[in-house]
Amino acid sequence: MQYISTRNSSIKVKSATAIKKGLSDEGGLFVPAEIPQIDLEDIKKLTEKSYTERAVFVLKKYLTDFLVKELRECAENAYGGGKFSGENPAPVVNVGGKYNVLELWHGPTCAFKDMALQILPHFLTKSMQKTGEDKTVVILVATSGDTGKAALEGFKDVAGTKIIVFYPSEGVSNIQKLQMITQEGKNVFVSGIKGNFDDAQSGVKTIFTDKEANTEFLKKGFTLSSANSINWGRLVPQIVYYISAYCDMVASGEVVLGDKINICVPTGNFGNILAAYYAKRMGLPVNKLICASNQNNVLTDFINSGEYNKNRNFHTTISPSMDILISSNLERLLFDLSGNDDKKVSKWMTDLKEKGGYKVSADVKKKVAEIFWAGYCDDYFTKERIYKTYTEFGYTVDTHTAVAIDVYEQYKTETKDMTPTVIASTASPFKFNQSVLSALGKDRETVDKDDFELLDILSSVSQMEIPASLGSLRTKKKRFENVCEKSELLMTVNGFLDKK
Ligand SMILES: *Cc1c(COP(=O)(O)O)cnc(C)c1O
Repeated sequence: MQYISTRNSSIKVKSATAIKKGLSDEGGLFVPAEIPQIDLEDIKKLTEKSYTERAVFVLKKYLTDFLVKELRECAENAYGGGKFSGENPAPVVNVGGKYNVLELWHGPTCAFKDMALQILPHFLTKSMQKTGEDKTVVILVATSGDTGKAALEGFKDVAGTKIIVFYPSEGVSNIQKLQMITQEGKNVFVSGIKGNFDDAQSGVKTIFTDKEANTEFLKKGFTLSSANSINWGRLVPQIVYYISAYCDMVASGEVVLGDKINICVPTGNFGNILAAYYAKRMGLPVNKLICASNQNNVLTDFINSGEYNKNRNFHTTISPSMDILISSNLERLLFDLSGNDDKKVSKWMTDLKEKGGYKVSADVKKKVAEIFWAGYCDDYFTKERIYKTYTEFGYTVDTHTAVAIDVYEQYKTETKDMTPTVIASTASPFKFNQSVLSALGKDRETVDKDDFELLDILSSVSQMEIPASLGSLRTKKKRFENVCEKSELLMTVNGFLDKK
């Protein structure tokens, strides 16, 4: 299968190249030239298989230049070996007979990013072999909090790679920050930036497309790649868990094979929900994709109006991993819905860069509205939803998952649609302990407590065990306390790469 760029569909590469490069040279994103299909017979067979085998089945439809044996190795290394707690790395939990929650945070960094970032380094190492790459691959990451840690954990000490992560210095939770600045490994570097996630993402994208800088990197023996969801290797493992969730619901009798489900996803960069869209396009029986945003509701407005406009206030919310106004992966959706129209997509993306927005054509707008339903939830209602879910069902959710549950409730109220719905739960509540405890009415108990005391309190309130990887932060050394200006990203990258 060939991969083409959303901004120039005459550029055709194999999946190994798409994964190695991350981003196409002219700034477009790689997408499969055609979307592979599955049928109910396939799904039926998959219901009897393990998560790893389901992953191999889906991956081999997309990564056709990889051998099945190689994909199995990648999947076993990522999802086996006790890295994820529990037998199924992505279980569907029935909450009070009311919600089907797809818990995606049982991996080493306690957010759904592990589902892709535990396997991406294996794809990348194999892609380097396949393409004869002799340079050191430098993974540049902009993070709103969770990608950074998951990428660091996935790439630490992976031969032939280095990884550099930029996070908004004031825009992540304490635990998220601690996770990153205590990162171990010889090939890692972490820096805060004085700005928000969009600044970090734009800065990183600028380095990717900076010809001069890239020529210099090559001279020094480095080539850049991305672990953000602009990399196709991030998206394809995410398609797997939606198909797997459907299989689990068939197996448990929640749905009958062939029945449709809805999928509700708390969304920032549009990566996770795009993976659900690809699952639907492949033939998974899906009715609506419900796009849940926090107060940074640029996607809600886009889905409802066909007009993308990032010229608006940026809100720092209690669901920081969704504090994003430029949702990069929307570009892939627009490319698909416009019938692979690279000219149109290029124009929209130029307008986004130059004017801060664009308006899609009527046919694309109509298709978007048919496939998606969108809503948002501010901090007040996010907290209220955490409280309600806890008091009604004894189930403690993190702030991002709460946004999704709340928007799902809005959806049901408005549409009266009772189709069984999978709600993607994207992080462990322990990652956002302060906000979660506050939502549960524990403000008084948490005054003057440090983050580890908060973990203990949340554990006793939620009756959940503290994830080992968070508890162990207590004794880890802080290694990376530097913060740079928005304009200093390239300098910071060179500083790290030039160090012996
Ligand atoms: C990254 C993240 C999101 C948003 O996912 P996208 O793929 O960027 O839409 C939601 N919740 C959590 C906890 C995250 O880490």
